[in-house]
Amino acid sequence: MSLVIVGSVAFDTIRTPWGDREKIVGGSGTYGSLAASYFTHPRVVGVVGRDFPRKTLAFLRSRGIDLAGLKVKAGKTFHWEGKYEDDPNRRTTLRTELNVFADFRPEVPASYRGSRIVYLANLNPEHHPFVLKQFRKPALVAMDTIRLWIDTKREALLEELGRVDIFFANDEEARLITGEMNLVSAGKALVALGPSLVLLKKGEHGALVFGRDFVFGVPAHPCEHVIDPTGAGDSFAGGFLGYLDKTRSLTGRDVHRAAVYGSVMASFAIEDFGIGRFLSLDRDLVEARFRQFRKMTAF
Ligand code: AMP
Repeated sequence: MSLVIVGSVAFDTIRTPWGDREKIVGGSGTYGSLAASYFTHPRVVGVVGRDFPRKTLAFLRSRGIDLAGLKVKAGKTFHWEGKYEDDPNRRTTLRTELNVFADFRPEVPASYRGSRIVYLANLNPEHHPFVLKQFRKPALVAMDTIRLWIDTKREALLEELGRVDIFFANDEEARLITGEMNLVSAGKALVALGPSLVLLKKGEHGALVFGRDFVFGVPAHPCEHVIDPTGAGDSFAGGFLGYLDKTRSLTGRDVHRAAVYGSVMASFAIEDFGIGRFLSLDRDLVEARFRQFRKMTAF
């Protein structure tokens, strides 16, 4: 089993109408690897500063996450600040302090090079070739992106979309990349750009999964008290890819189940600030919620 996640390991400051948190642990690599850790032993490539809490690193290790590719550098950890209004699907970035992430050139340790699945989370698309050439022959390459790269690195982003197998995007990103307002048209347009699987996340409305000759929808868990939506997208991707790494197969049934596990992991991530919910989450609770999804959608 081998899933590598290249992404940010960060401090986040979160502002919501129901409470604020200063400098709590977040980051796409953190959420993605935690969500994946319920299915496989994910490997992380990233960088933190010396100010990053050791006890969080110990917690990640205790979940079976391999941190051989996480560098600890002199300086401060990446810090992002975001604000949510009443609608948890909308957020504004208030601050991005790159710190040690500014000159992050992801180096893949020798022990990761034969990995099967590589997930490039929120990475500058210009850095993808440098990262991918360090792997021998991954069976699946997945990526997602953020508005920053759509606005500033559009050409590189489109080129990378032509190379990857799986693309995760939210509704806003899909519309911005394709110019299509209708999400079904946007999903199809993204598949036409290259990836054989496109997962369009729609926040509390679930996700749409597009393949070359199919489309299906996955609901979100009906959650009345969203505490902190941060990390839902990364947890979805982590759950999805973690499950695919575990099954080692890509049949329609596996992709369906992987998408439901993605939605399950996202639903847990939003139940507490930061990575709080993962501290007490076990595999039985994950399976119980998977069964709830099945009941909710069977007819
Ligand atoms: P999500 O809510 O799943 O879309 O992702 C939220 C995470 O993305 C937060 O924990 C942030 O630390 C991280 N993040 C925000 N901006 C960036 C960026 N420019 N590069 C990498 N990670 C970022």
